[in-house]
Amino acid sequence: MTARIPTPGELDPIETASRDEISALQLSRLQWSVRHTYDNVAPYRAKCEAQGVHPDDLRTLADLSRFPFMTKADLRDNYPFGLFAVPRQQVQRLHASSGTTGKPVVVGYTRNDLNNWADLVARSIRAAGVRAGDMVHVAYGYGMFTGGLGAHYGVERLGCTVVPMSGGQTEKQVQQILDFRPDAIMVTPSYSLVIAEEFERLGISPDEISLKVGIFGAEPWGQGMRAEIERKLGIDAIDIYGLTEVMGPGVACECIETKDGPVIWEDHFYPEIIDPETGEVLPDGAEGELVFTSLTKEAFPVIRYRTRDLTRLLPPSARAFRRMDKIVGRSDDMLIVRGVNVFPTQIEEQILREPRLTGNYQIVLTRDGHLDNVEVRCELQREISGKIGRGPTEDMARALAHRIKTNIGISTLVKVMEFETLPRTQTGKARRVIDQRPKQL
Ligand code: ADP
Repeated sequence: MTARIPTPGELDPIETASRDEISALQLSRLQWSVRHTYDNVAPYRAKCEAQGVHPDDLRTLADLSRFPFMTKADLRDNYPFGLFAVPRQQVQRLHASSGTTGKPVVVGYTRNDLNNWADLVARSIRAAGVRAGDMVHVAYGYGMFTGGLGAHYGVERLGCTVVPMSGGQTEKQVQQILDFRPDAIMVTPSYSLVIAEEFERLGISPDEISLKVGIFGAEPWGQGMRAEIERKLGIDAIDIYGLTEVMGPGVACECIETKDGPVIWEDHFYPEIIDPETGEVLPDGAEGELVFTSLTKEAFPVIRYRTRDLTRLLPPSARAFRRMDKIVGRSDDMLIVRGVNVFPTQIEEQILREPRLTGNYQIVLTRDGHLDNVEVRCELQREISGKIGRGPTEDMARALAHRIKTNIGISTLVKVMEFETLPRTQTGKARRVIDQRPKQL
């Protein structure tokens, strides 16, 4: 396989439709979705009544802004099935969020929901350059997490051979990639680096690896990380976005021909960007919190679901749909260090400007009296680890601390460590921040 750009004939007609056609479809689906939720999800109906809005008020897409938000708290308060809009007997599958930020939330899918999900993942991986007949290695975790099974059925739907490897067992993953020669891999960006390191350890160079494309999501990763993964695996690295509450992977995906931010599959999900403080809808291009309304979901519809992911909406490029910028981070990952707001991805970007450092890093926060201290731990690349002396390593640490101070505005203590000193993720999402500060009451 080479990184193939789909011809217009290979795309779903709506991917190249006019904006008017898309808006008309969105409005009719939105009216259905809001009414379906209002009629069948009592806690959401109560919110609408409290706010004095009714599905009949939805005459244009802009009217959506009058409707109440759904938040993670609503999902938790109604755990496990309280926000389902169909009888449990019609729910064919359950999933739960990985619980990165607290108690898991449970979601459900009808047969139609699963069908749409498989179609959208198939559309996503086609956008990434995968084609029927290719072999796709899925190293997202299988189970309650949406990554594994979500990817799996999309790969099958496109007509590919799926390798349902799941996460972990890195040596076996790599052996299997060598033996089966898959064309593409779907995995978290942080675990892809662990796989890349195992290839390095075996002395296998990127051009000997069969993979041509990797489709990465489930956690934030910047452009520096993209370059690092592409170089180490010899692939095109494509960004796929999704979240359990809205569906799972495949809510949006980048196109290989542009790699300019995930295209939102707007025929199924209506995006808004809001000011996280006031809830006001912001114009396209402005940065804020991403909010999604599902347009076709039956079992677990979401209306104005606040994702807490920070990004902005960008105009269409390779498809007729709008795109989202790479996610800076979620609002709950934001560190406030001595009053400065910092996202781990900003630190990652500075680390990866130094090619002698790997993309594995950790940020350790401690408090000294009233002051926050930030230690950035990073690692030398394998080929130079143990080979350069203390002086150059300390210079590298100083230079990085200086870059972080100049570009982000915080003082940090940078520790450059030998290769493979820091823990590696085996299961998917990396834990980048270790916050040892006492909890504020
Ligand atoms: P949890 O909320 O427990 O981590 P999920 O597995 O549903 O559960 O994670 C979804 C979240 O993962 C998104 O809200 C977002 O913060 C992050 N995410 C998913 N895909 C991407 C991506 N491509 N880029 C950045 N962040 C992503």
